[in-house]
Amino acid sequence: MSEHIGLLRLPREVRFGFGARRAVAGLAAGFGERVAFVVDPFLAETDDFRAVLAETHDRGCRTEVIADVPPELPVGAVQDAAEALRPFGADVIVGYGGGSALDAAKLVSLLLAHPAPLDRYYGENAVPGPVTPLVAVPTTAGTGSEVTPVAVVSDPSRAVKVGISSPHLIPAIAVVDPELTMSAPAGVTAYAGIDAFVHAVESFTAAPLADVGAERLPVFVGRDVLTEPLSLEAARLIHRSLPVAIANPGDRRAREEMSRASLLAGMAFGSAGTHISHAVQYPIGALTHTPHGLGTGMLLPYVLQAFLPAIPDRLAVLGEALGLDAAGDERARAQATVDAIADLCARIGLPTSLAELGVSHADREQVVTLSLQARRLVDIAPQPVDEQLMGAIFDAAFAGDRSRLSDVIVDMRP
Ligand code: NAD
Repeated sequence: MSEHIGLLRLPREVRFGFGARRAVAGLAAGFGERVAFVVDPFLAETDDFRAVLAETHDRGCRTEVIADVPPELPVGAVQDAAEALRPFGADVIVGYGGGSALDAAKLVSLLLAHPAPLDRYYGENAVPGPVTPLVAVPTTAGTGSEVTPVAVVSDPSRAVKVGISSPHLIPAIAVVDPELTMSAPAGVTAYAGIDAFVHAVESFTAAPLADVGAERLPVFVGRDVLTEPLSLEAARLIHRSLPVAIANPGDRRAREEMSRASLLAGMAFGSAGTHISHAVQYPIGALTHTPHGLGTGMLLPYVLQAFLPAIPDRLAVLGEALGLDAAGDERARAQATVDAIADLCARIGLPTSLAELGVSHADREQVVTLSLQARRLVDIAPQPVDEQLMGAIFDAAFAGDRSRLSDVIVDMRP
């Protein structure tokens, strides 16, 4: 299959830059006079949010604010929020906050257009049609949810968080203003920022899947010629600016580059998808209740080490984008890339093993089984993943020892 095909699914308008938040009220009012906000509870109390609300009133709009959806997004709380909002008859939803608030806004806009319960829509392409229009305003540089077709929810009847993936969930408009991330504390900056880096790297290394001529495509189609440049630029910016944004939260250039990178990575993975760091994080997150980005970031060096024999060329190209010194043969350059990524994770203070994260070795079978069940992620891994390979990734990550992976991996190159 030719790799020279491409797919991008994006909001109809993306605004980016310092000051972009001033456009939110006008853009929302463009959809109608009833504007509902789904806001992170902390951000709801900030002057910036109050200013957006006041500007929306100044435009003659009526508003409703939902600011009490818990960050894990329990399915019951999401459905309650949608029911509370239903009588208002919102013309548009504005999601304002980190990935949790944006995902909550996506799910509320889904439920206002289509009947509950939410579990009808779990998985891929199960949303039957357009949702209530959404304007997404991120306040972390991380998830890229402002441009992606996915939202993640906690369902007590399921062992791990569940994704709802559909092009209908892509926000109509994304407004990305780095100013809104300036108040994010170091931990949030680090975990959200490394998650964006994982989006960039996994979208760049995802296997190409799509037959671009097919009538119906999966939501996530693997890497292609349109997503690749976005992934590489996002990785370059994050490698340079994430440690700076953590050490010096007031550095406007670092914040701007992080916001831009997380947006670009979201555009890339929103079509290409992500793979094994995400597949393993879902059960790990459920077991340890640790932040999503902490888990995906910690796992990434192990996942790349496992796939290095299959994709040395791509990892070498990624290293060039990161500005690494291109010495040695392709394999050596690929190894240098994985080492540099492990170094980035260490520099921003991530734990280096699953044991440090609170995982027990007795969890191995459950983690391996559940990770393999995340088909949308496993199917676009750089090489086929079976129980043995997933187990080897777990073992190496548990011990904090990437060298263990060199014994078990079959070299996939012809
Ligand atoms: P978050 O939204 O969970 O927020 C984490 C904390 O940071 C909260 O306490 C919040 O109040 C605070 N916060 C957010 N912005 C702030 C700011 N500017 N100043 C001060 N505090 C701020 O964190 P997140 O990393 O943005 O999102 C994580 C969630 O996103 C996870 O649930 C994950 O599943 C989901 N996610 C979604 C997608 C997607 O495409 N839909 C992609 C990746 C992750």
